[in-house]
Amino acid sequence: MTSPSSAHTENSFHVAQRQFDIAADRLRLDDGIRDILRNCRRELTVNFPVRMDDGSTRLFQGYRVQHSLHRGPAKGGIRYHPGVDIDDVRALAMWMTWKCAVVGLPFGGAKGGVTCNPRDLSLRELENLTRRFTSEISILIGPDSDIPAPDVNTSAQIMAWMMDTYSMNVGHSVPAVVTGKPIEIGGSEGRAEATGRGCAIATRKAARAVGMPLEGARVAIQGFGNVGAPLAQFLHGDGCRVVALSDSRGGIYRESGLDPRAISRFKEETGSIIGFPGAERITHRELDELDCDILAPCALANEITRENAARVRARIIVEGANGPTTPEADRILADRKILVVPDILANAGGVTVSYFEWVQDLQAFFWDEAEINARLETIMVRAYDAVAREADIHAVDLRTAAHMLAVSRVAAALRLRGIFP
Ligand code: NAD
Repeated sequence: MTSPSSAHTENSFHVAQRQFDIAADRLRLDDGIRDILRNCRRELTVNFPVRMDDGSTRLFQGYRVQHSLHRGPAKGGIRYHPGVDIDDVRALAMWMTWKCAVVGLPFGGAKGGVTCNPRDLSLRELENLTRRFTSEISILIGPDSDIPAPDVNTSAQIMAWMMDTYSMNVGHSVPAVVTGKPIEIGGSEGRAEATGRGCAIATRKAARAVGMPLEGARVAIQGFGNVGAPLAQFLHGDGCRVVALSDSRGGIYRESGLDPRAISRFKEETGSIIGFPGAERITHRELDELDCDILAPCALANEITRENAARVRARIIVEGANGPTTPEADRILADRKILVVPDILANAGGVTVSYFEWVQDLQAFFWDEAEINARLETIMVRAYDAVAREADIHAVDLRTAAHMLAVSRVAAALRLRGIFP
């Protein structure tokens, strides 16, 4: 899905396949394994009707794609967005496989989505759409087979409707069928902020690696949602100066720094961060090219391309979003010695705490938030260190290293399991 701020149109699945090829070449992966992992295992497209408030019926298209099941059940979010198409979902499913492997979770990768603009739907229509979509994809999802979670424009409430619909269809409650649920029905402490918390951990590691103190570091964050808003708060808490933020309507800037909590409150009241008192208005492009120390794309894919990579001025890019940087941009950024912490590592905190949620649901025994956060920190730090070590050994950037580590782990599982029958 190409964001409105990017003039360059890229097919996300082609980007994901090119990233895979770079790692597969370096790993000298044989052709058979390469073919299997370069493609998605199962792809379901559903066209389903939804009864609208005015009595009419509207047809929607949705998808659930499982890229790999070699390391365990498939795991991946559900996205509601007008730009969602099958190739976006394929790319996101493949990245989920690598993400779970890079942090060592016993999952394969999946993703789902519905092509829709949730802003045009009433709450009842959103619920009808979610319940019917869940029923349509129930031939794939399940606590042992494929476990959805929130992504762009999907929330804990939507996960609650998914869990309830699946449970109604099977006749008993199955909390472990989705993660990112409200705490009251089997959600986990710490899940809402987990992706942002994991990104903050990755940012601290990256800053240490380049010898940059976080105190006073100037941060620009694109996207102020599930990922961007908590990340802004964590980095603000670390002493960073969050100078710029954006949402789908544009960006805001204040040289002396913005208070993320005040902005969250403002967004709750007004629906956007735009118009926050005392902040200057900037464009999406101005935010990408801002003079800052840390840039965190936390919105959509294809933000940093060959067209604007040479103008990025940050020293560190932390990818809260999936797929924000194209392979051509990666080369330009590497030449310019800008450290990119890749999506499959940087934003893996979300799926890590989703894994904790699934484990808690399966054993019906829940952990407190301190335990969740400590386990998340351990996993993120271990994964960052392993990727950095791989990058040093092979003299490659962190994305290539993360892909090499992940692809080799999935390929090992595939070899051990063999080809059925
Ligand atoms: P969200 O819907 O909660 O938030 C998205 C934010 O991006 C919103 O503030 C929206 O206004 C803004 N936005 C949209 N288009 C924009 C643009 N062109 N420029 C600037 N801002 C724009 O979604 P989210 O869950 O925070 O997901 C954001 C990204 O993070 C996605 O790429 C998603 O796949 C990835 N991600 C999410 C999670 C998770 O746990 N939610 C985990 C890993 C990765």
